[in-house]
Amino acid sequence: MQILSNFSTIKYKGVNKMAFSVTIGKSKLTLVVGDITKQEVDAVVNAANSSLMGGGGVDGAIHRAAGPKLHEECLEIVKKQGECPTGEAVITSGGNMPAKYVIHTVGPIWHGGSSNEPELLAKCYENSLKLAIKNNIKTIAFPSISTGAYGYPVEKAAVVAIKSVKEFLENNDGIDEVIFVLFNDAIYKSYESVLKSLNL
Ligand code: ADP
Repeated sequence: MQILSNFSTIKYKGVNKMAFSVTIGKSKLTLVVGDITKQEVDAVVNAANSSLMGGGGVDGAIHRAAGPKLHEECLEIVKKQGECPTGEAVITSGGNMPAKYVIHTVGPIWHGGSSNEPELLAKCYENSLKLAIKNNIKTIAFPSISTGAYGYPVEKAAVVAIKSVKEFLENNDGIDEVIFVLFNDAIYKSYESVLKSLNL
């Protein structure tokens, strides 16, 4: 693992305060504290619900920032293929956000850990990254999926998130940078300690 930068404040837009990057294969994996709706990346990932009709948390923030076009595109998808199952992902435009695309994925609701939550959460990251490659997306920002309203403990979710992305980047070329945009310092610290503990 090559550490490129630590506690950088210059590279990312929005309210980012901290950043930490490593290289994995041909890609960069970065952690920042910030607001995902402000990221200047090809795609931001939305922690959606199956209906794709918006909600609270990061979903609400993305729909507000993107504008009504996002809701219309989501409606079209649901009309065509039905609701989005947990672990799967679909793509729309980014509406009025700096990002060109939104990849909507549905994280698992935490039921205590023995209802396939880790496998389903890993699928969210894998399927989002697969869809990114299919759409020639080079830079992609993820929130901490499932760790808000869906109740997945952050320390556990961070392990699944980092390991899934790491494994994908080791086995697939095409993505230049994955950025985890974490909403506060506590979430950031959880992700940072997992990434550092991997000792790549
Ligand atoms: P879920 O239903 O998957 O748990 P939530 O939106 O409730 O989704 O929470 C997922 C994570 O997104 C939480 O860590 C929350 O703090 C974070 N979050 C909320 N708003 C934003 C935002 N604008 N940018 C980045 N992360 C956000």
